[in-house]
Amino acid sequence: MEKIVMIDEELCVGCGACVTLCPKKILYIQETSGKCKVSDELKCDRLRGCEKVCPVSAIKIA
Ligand code: SF4
Ligand code: SF4
Repeated sequence: MEKIVMIDEELCVGCGACVTLCPKKILYIQETSGKCKVSDELKCDRLRGCEKVCPVSAIKIA
């Protein structure tokens, strides 16, 4: 299945800005890695708020 929310873990600094912003609450910071992950990307509204808020451009929405 096509990925909707693509997170570049090399770039992600775990700031949590996207987690706070996401209206669907599908983004979270994984404790072990300190990196952003997506729980249920099928709920994504694809409005790209997370793309815009990420300071290091680590998120891309398909
Ligand atoms: S595009 Fe919107 S709903 Fe989808 S992950 Fe980003 S902020 Fe959340
Ligand atoms: S806004 Fe970017 S750097 Fe911050 S947690 Fe989200 S993906 Fe990682």
